[in-house]
Amino acid sequence: MSEIMEMLVRRGFLWQSFEIYGGMAGFIDYGPLGNAVRRKLENLWRKYFVINERSVEIDTPTIGVEEVFIASGHAEGFTDVAIECESCGRVFRADHYIKEKLNIEVDPTIERVWDVIVEFNLKCECGGNFKKPFHFNLMFETKIGPGKGKKGYLRPETAQGIFIAFKRLSNYFRDKLPFGVAQIGRAYRNEISPRQGVIRLREFNQAELEFFCHPGEKKHPEFYKYANDVVTLVDKFDKEHRVTLKEAVERGIIAHELLAYFIGKTRRFLLEAGVKDEKLRFRQHKDDERAHYAVDCWDAEALTSYGWVEIVGIADRSDYDLSRHTKFSGEDLSVFVPFKEPIKVKRKKVVPNLAKLGPVYKDKAKKIAEELEKIENAGDEIEVVVDGEKIKLSKEFYEVKEVEEEVHGERIIPHVVEPSFGLDRITYVLLEHAFDKDVVDGEERRVLRLKRWMAPIDVAVLPLLSREEFQKKALEIVEMLRENGIYTEYDDSGSIGRRYRRFDEVGVPFCVTVDHQTFEDDTVTIRDRDTTKQVRVKVEELVGVLKELLNSEKSIEEFGEIFKA
Ligand code: AMP
Repeated sequence: MSEIMEMLVRRGFLWQSFEIYGGMAGFIDYGPLGNAVRRKLENLWRKYFVINERSVEIDTPTIGVEEVFIASGHAEGFTDVAIECESCGRVFRADHYIKEKLNIEVDPTIERVWDVIVEFNLKCECGGNFKKPFHFNLMFETKIGPGKGKKGYLRPETAQGIFIAFKRLSNYFRDKLPFGVAQIGRAYRNEISPRQGVIRLREFNQAELEFFCHPGEKKHPEFYKYANDVVTLVDKFDKEHRVTLKEAVERGIIAHELLAYFIGKTRRFLLEAGVKDEKLRFRQHKDDERAHYAVDCWDAEALTSYGWVEIVGIADRSDYDLSRHTKFSGEDLSVFVPFKEPIKVKRKKVVPNLAKLGPVYKDKAKKIAEELEKIENAGDEIEVVVDGEKIKLSKEFYEVKEVEEEVHGERIIPHVVEPSFGLDRITYVLLEHAFDKDVVDGEERRVLRLKRWMAPIDVAVLPLLSREEFQKKALEIVEMLRENGIYTEYDDSGSIGRRYRRFDEVGVPFCVTVDHQTFEDDTVTIRDRDTTKQVRVKVEELVGVLKELLNSEKSIEEFGEIFKA
């Protein structure tokens, strides 16, 4: 186990699920500290992608009826290529196994995988031969209700719940595009052989935004906010660019402004959460790598001890999902989009000649005329069906005229651009990027340099001595901080140096210490995790000072004179 994983398990961030029964790959428990970090990440995401985006958040079931996933294409196409050993029966995800054993990136098709196995005489870890590769569907199947029941699946992404509710949502927004709908929740994928610890899970947490827009308007009014941000892009030909987002759109590296907008916003969000800029890049999917629903896709990738890991997928899903659900459900999921000004359109129209129709067709003439009016253009003969009877009409019974009409709008199926975040992977990346070591007082120290607003515990209050009056005063302060919404821990066991180290290791940004001087002038010390510097502040000002510190990157020096480093 890596040093960071050892710490995360020991200190209560992440645990193997079902541990007492031997565990199961692809499932993790969040301990108290890990859960706190993930919740904070979720709230930061809401700030960026719900509140500031002026989108809405909904919550839909994690189980879906079969129809949903037939329409979405997951029932058929959400597969990975797997290989099974003839002797031991173990099954591996083919591209991962080949990468691990041969360090070759292989297109994950059955033919290509088989070629590589044959060419390199690739064997299973037990020495056995592999059978022919096959497609394995990643969806967990379930049955809804008793008896034969109804087939269902655990959702592999939260997005489908949003597409299914599109009619209601569009109504909620009074059919005014563009609008965004977000969902945070669990997703399930029966990953073939998850061997990357916390990175590849079978049950994980997604935060997705579906941004519905007019197909001809893949823009965003707030693109200017990120247009000049310099980003690292790796395009689908593996070419790296360090460019501004504006330039990337102008040069056609990124297909349109809306994708660039979400790349920019995603980057700012990840940086605010604590991902290191120099360990962050955006990689475009290759043509054969894109999911079945995507026309263009960029992944945010973070560099970790597992290599570059996808943490966010930003995809242009076009009208794929809404068109498919329109087709499969029979519900029209298009939106009427009014033009700014009505436009005049010339069109051809068939006009019946009643003077001729009447005498020949008598009481059928009216119905024939109605049928003719439905027809736009015609040649020298028209066939209509009236009361089940086919009637051929020659040119003398109608005229084709050009008419001018006012058109007020058009019906379109909106396109969707989707930033999709894996909260578990991002949480892990934050922890790994924050994990650091330095030397304090001649001793090696482990310190988790999380952003202050992402730390699992805001403040630790420590009595310098384990004497009753120190403890009592410290507990009063704990109470005061908690009442003010500051997540505070109390610790009076062991030497003060050891206690500081304990809180440094789990990233607590500030320790407040009750010492001898507290009883003289009602002051306490605040110690900064990163610099280990200390200042002294009045207890009555403590809440205000800590809130300011926790919500900013201000130095404690702004709040008092440094007396100890
Ligand atoms: P995708 O729909 O495959 O683009 O996934 C969206 C995001 O979900 C990815 O960027 C990952 O962060 C996350 N994700 C996908 N699969 C897994 C998994 N098996 N375990 C953990 N996170 C995942």
